[in-house]
Amino acid sequence: MSVIHNFSAGPGILPKEVLKQASEACINFDNMNLSLLEISHRSKNYVNVMDEARQLVKDLFEVGDEYEVIYLGGGASLQFGMVPMNLLSEAGYAAYVNTGVWASKAIKEAKIVGNTKVLASSEDKKFTYVPKGYEIPSDADYFHITSNNTIYGTQMKSFPKSPVPMVCDMSSDLFSRRVNAKDFALIYAGAQKNMGPAGSTMVMIRKDMLGKSGRKMLSMLDYSVHIKGESMYNTPPVFPVYVSMLTLRWLKQNGGVDWIEKINQQKADLLYNEIDRNSCFVGTVEKEDRSHMNVCFLPTKAEYEAEFDKIAKERNLSGIKGHRDVGGYRASLYNALPLESVQVLVDAMKDFEKKFA
Ligand SMILES: *Cc1c(COP(=O)(O)O)cnc(C)c1O
Repeated sequence: MSVIHNFSAGPGILPKEVLKQASEACINFDNMNLSLLEISHRSKNYVNVMDEARQLVKDLFEVGDEYEVIYLGGGASLQFGMVPMNLLSEAGYAAYVNTGVWASKAIKEAKIVGNTKVLASSEDKKFTYVPKGYEIPSDADYFHITSNNTIYGTQMKSFPKSPVPMVCDMSSDLFSRRVNAKDFALIYAGAQKNMGPAGSTMVMIRKDMLGKSGRKMLSMLDYSVHIKGESMYNTPPVFPVYVSMLTLRWLKQNGGVDWIEKINQQKADLLYNEIDRNSCFVGTVEKEDRSHMNVCFLPTKAEYEAEFDKIAKERNLSGIKGHRDVGGYRASLYNALPLESVQVLVDAMKDFEKKFA
């Protein structure tokens, strides 16, 4: 089988050894001669999986027992509503920054639940930069940001100092770089970008945030209920959590966030340098806000696209087609993507220039 270089934006690439272990567990999990998919989630073997998956998040974020970690269904999109349900009081309001499609959706859901204020937005320039220099009000119930803009390819390189609890959607750059997790009251991430298969969402919440909104909530939407149930209030998404656990274990065993951050920096430098050097391509976002995870670029002439698509296909470059809102190309450089794959893409761009420029 030939190697495919998988730049998919999501669900995204996972480490080969994780996929191998995960497929073995579908047949014979933990030498039980049973599939992971056909045992009780309350069995000791599975409870161990959930415990490790929860602990690994705390280890990688370097936080202690002041935080709780749970895995929920419903995608990051459900968190757009659960966050305000749980953290926004009837009389208060929540502050948001609008940096793209996902941030807009988070704002839309919060507005259904209660009062919101949008402090800043980059919609005026099609979300090609990250707004800066806004003031975060000290009377908001919380302040919500999206660390990485998966669709438009921008990323917050640093986080503002917030006088109120800071909440972050880290779906597309979770554990791709070092962050000071203790600056956040709540971090959530859908698994399918940088951690595992679709179907589970990691939520890490500081305990002092719980029980504050004063709202009546459905049990399934209440963080406290899931925490009390040790992330097993109902049947959890057993397989997505297992694969996420394997990926986080892979990350930790290989050297953790500092290890992957170096490689991610090399991958991003390699590709952005080529985009800037190559006369056939141009980056779409402000240089200082360029995402290390989702690299968006356009051909400088429309007719290049069909030709480059051909070369990309020949060289097994998969999943580089840009989002329909941006066009051109988007190469997602998630943790499991090797540097070698980026080199293959860069070589294809160089060869393309030689032939067509
Ligand atoms: C993909 C994505 C989402 C949506 O995730 P779902 O799991 O599909 O609900 C939310 N936020 C960001 C930043 C994303 O990249």
